[in-house]
Amino acid sequence: MDNYKYFENAKENAYMTDTPCQFCGTTENCLDGVFIEGDEDYESVCLNCYDAGKAPSKIPPYVAEKVNNDPQKIKDLSDCPPVPWIQSNEWPVCCGDFGVFIGEWSNTDFDNNSEDGNGFGFLQVILADDQKPRVESFENLWNDISFEAAAFVFRCPHCGKLTAVCQYY
Ligand SMILES: [Zn+2]
Ligand SMILES: [Zn+2]
Repeated sequence: MDNYKYFENAKENAYMTDTPCQFCGTTENCLDGVFIEGDEDYESVCLNCYDAGKAPSKIPPYVAEKVNNDPQKIKDLSDCPPVPWIQSNEWPVCCGDFGVFIGEWSNTDFDNNSEDGNGFGFLQVILADDQKPRVESFENLWNDISFEAAAFVFRCPHCGKLTAVCQYY
């Protein structure tokens, strides 16, 4: 538990539920099953049962293609807890590998993680390259974060580059 290749600090960054684990009944560290993409629908799966493979998750083919279908990377990613995607899985890739999910950021998180305290400028730098051309107004996006939108942030395990993926509810 909490030793995932592409997911940092699972107890904080995974989306948890108070519903008892459907496999063992514990209420501790239960992933909200709605975010697990598998063959079955899940309600609540604790991290222990998740690690034991009781609720196997699948990586969509278009995400696997981003790492040229490398079996080890895909296995390591499917072992990670799910990011609470609002839309489809947009796991970013850098240096030929998946980014490490480091959390959902608020405006304050962007401010605190930027070098000059200017989170708004920082968002425009680290927003995923494929999302940048689709943004009509960065002001609107910035103001929507934590309200109508979520900003999921990833760090490249090789070069350290940060990538933010924003999705709207
Ligand atoms: Zn369990
Ligand atoms: Zn990189």
